[in-house]
Amino acid sequence: MQQVSVWEKESFYAHKNVIIAGSGFVGLWSAYYLKKNHPKLSIAIVDRGIIPTGASTRNAGFACFGSVTELIADTLKSGEEQMLDIVEMRYKGLKRIRKIFKDKEIGYEDFGGYELVTGSQDFDLNILRSNIDYLNRKLKKIVKKEKSFYINDDKISEFGFAGIQHLIENKLEGQLHSGKLCQALLKLVVSMGVTVLNSIEIKNYERINGSIELHTNQHFNLSTDQLIICTNAFAKQLLPELDVEPARGQVLVTSEIPDLKWKGTFHYDEGYYYFRNLGNRVLLGGARNAAFEDEHTYELATSSHIQDTLENFLKEKILPATLFTIEHRWSGIMGVGKEKMPIVKKISDGVFCAVRMGGMGVALAPVIGEQIAELITT
Ligand SMILES: Cc1cc2nc3c(=O)[nH]c(=O)nc-3n(C[C@H](O)[C@H](O)[C@H](O)COP(=O)(O)OP(=O)(O)OC[C@H]3O[C@@H](n4cnc5c(N)ncnc54)[C@H](O)[C@@H]3O)c2cc1C
Repeated sequence: MQQVSVWEKESFYAHKNVIIAGSGFVGLWSAYYLKKNHPKLSIAIVDRGIIPTGASTRNAGFACFGSVTELIADTLKSGEEQMLDIVEMRYKGLKRIRKIFKDKEIGYEDFGGYELVTGSQDFDLNILRSNIDYLNRKLKKIVKKEKSFYINDDKISEFGFAGIQHLIENKLEGQLHSGKLCQALLKLVVSMGVTVLNSIEIKNYERINGSIELHTNQHFNLSTDQLIICTNAFAKQLLPELDVEPARGQVLVTSEIPDLKWKGTFHYDEGYYYFRNLGNRVLLGGARNAAFEDEHTYELATSSHIQDTLENFLKEKILPATLFTIEHRWSGIMGVGKEKMPIVKKISDGVFCAVRMGGMGVALAPVIGEQIAELITT
């Protein structure tokens, strides 16, 4: 069996004040706020992937805070207060990302966002208008704008979509490059003195003589005073009692489309479908509601059923009469539960968690990272 050298034991694998499990956006933002508030803390982020391998590097890169039909569905399910609390966290998170990183560094583009409403959804225009008015009224104190959402049907033919009845525009939404944001965050926390360790899976943990021992899949254990679990969809491995379930999201990206008529981020069907331009290519994801049971999985694979559903949607509604090929397909795993509110709490003495980011964790992560950092005792 391979041994650990004294150099390794006294540097990379040395006892830390805080170890963060998971180097997705939540783990990285948690490290950022902890180090910012307490520069002397020794901190390591440990991830089982060669790079972060959950949702943060495998998503769609929407910098968004929710579409009309999704926010109305959330209000009906969990109440107005929770819907507004989550929107506020997302909106603050997006502002913070842009305060800390230059747009160019993270591929941020201000193209705005839209929601598509199709005839088959059978929406009454008056109800749609009153839902938009209601949301604009409620969101005003968060976004400091009169109108977050408005109907802009003139753009439907300009964009070349087919079978779309209404288009709701939201100029406050943007898009970014998730890989670049992840790399920029990693660079930032390393520059602040955080140790990043990859390819180490934390199998379980136990408290021994006032410190927390982390058992790993490697030939060594790690130890820390405090542990923050930011493993999102995979949280049940370490915390089986939590209400966090895996929800796979599948994505595809087309070839370059030279005369692509639109730019922006688009939502459809309460957020179950989402697409955006990626330069002149189209990234489309979702359709999880076409096979909920199959997508309740940790497996980072794609399925022909969902991919075909996405391709049909692309051909029929988004790019009718346009020639394209599919160049990339992948999936990522979201952490969801009965409630959309993330779980940010103390689990036991010295053990904390910040998990269940759902489908909009890019925006939520900075605020969640700050919240969990405030729970840590120093
Ligand atoms: C297809 C798809 C599209 C999405 N689109 C968007 C979008 O456009 N906009 C948006 O805001 N959000 C989107 N999301 C959601 C968003 O990506 C997530 O909410 C967010 O990335 C969650 O970040 P996280 O750090 O909590 O989790 P993750 O990024 O999943 O990170 C968890 C990390 O924990 C590590 N890990 C797990 N178990 C262990 C262990 N035992 N030991 C060590 N490490 C471990 C994993 O390797 C992983 O790197 C999308 C998600 C998916 C899947």
